[in-house]
Amino acid sequence: MSQVLDGKAHADRMLEEVRQGVEARLAQGKRAPALAVVLVGDDPASHVYVRNKTAACAKVGIRSLEHRLAADTPQAALDALIDQLNADPGVDGILVQLPLPQGLDAKRALHRISPAKDVDGFHPVNQGLLLEGLPGLRPCTPTACMSLLAHHGVALKGLRAVVLGRSEIVGKPMALMLLEQHATVTIAHSRTKDLPAVCREADLLVAAVGRPGLVEGSWIKPGAVVVDVGINRVEDEALGAAIFAAEPKKLETLRAKGGVLCGDVRFGEAMAVASAVTPVPGGVGPLTIAGLLANTLAASNQDA
Ligand code: NAP
Repeated sequence: MSQVLDGKAHADRMLEEVRQGVEARLAQGKRAPALAVVLVGDDPASHVYVRNKTAACAKVGIRSLEHRLAADTPQAALDALIDQLNADPGVDGILVQLPLPQGLDAKRALHRISPAKDVDGFHPVNQGLLLEGLPGLRPCTPTACMSLLAHHGVALKGLRAVVLGRSEIVGKPMALMLLEQHATVTIAHSRTKDLPAVCREADLLVAAVGRPGLVEGSWIKPGAVVVDVGINRVEDEALGAAIFAAEPKKLETLRAKGGVLCGDVRFGEAMAVASAVTPVPGGVGPLTIAGLLANTLAASNQDA
């Protein structure tokens, strides 16, 4: 039986470090770090994410400043708000909650954020710094995954790592961070031939795909470490019966509640093969917000 890598516990450790960092700033007579969150439209999931981020900010002493815009906000108005936040010396970090409503260009908005306030780490300047291995604000999810692996003493040097997914948000930066730590990295994606065989080569498998239960137990090398970034809601009972064959409780929950959250990896099957696995929920999810707040503190300390 493998170890469950508890993301919630590690997120609490990361948040405690941020809280102490905020306290240290205040002790030096500086103001608390401030995170501006821009929420456009009525996407219910986005409202939940923003609420969670606001609550986490409050716990560690970061000020959160919420800016809500209507779904039919023109791009020029969003640009103007970002410009205003960029120029505001009382704002350290700016986060534009994605997805944006149709008609708004997310890339344009993200690229407009000043790189010094880009706490999501999505700006091309910050992505370029990461590519060069230089300090900068780095994407929260992969940064937090690296912190979790370090905490659990996963030795990355020389390790065969496979990152499943090549998004700018997770897959690509995760691969770069692993490479920086001297892992031998393969990036796999939807056009990869014989995906199960590629995954089976991995001593460390990171799945960031968004396909419930894609990674079966037979895809995992015995003793591998598995980081499951995917967050998916499964409502279909037939799909649930297939992917939760080794997790009867999850299937029961699906039947009882009409839906259940799961990752890209079949957790029950992975637990029988891997040496360590992150669960969903309770794995990478809580770490991402902790990474965001760590970035906000780092952004505020750039004036130090
Ligand atoms: P994304 O932008 O949709 O990228 C998905 C990647 O997976 C793409 O590179 C795609 O390949 C690849 N892919 C899709 N279907 C595949 C298949 N059948 N076989 C192999 N590769 C496949 O997604 P993302 O933003 O990176 O997010 C991925 C997952 O992580 C989602 O479930 C998301 O909700 C979750 N997520 C979680 C957190 C967290 O806090 N835990 C944070 C961010 C994201 P192509 O490039 O070839 O299309």
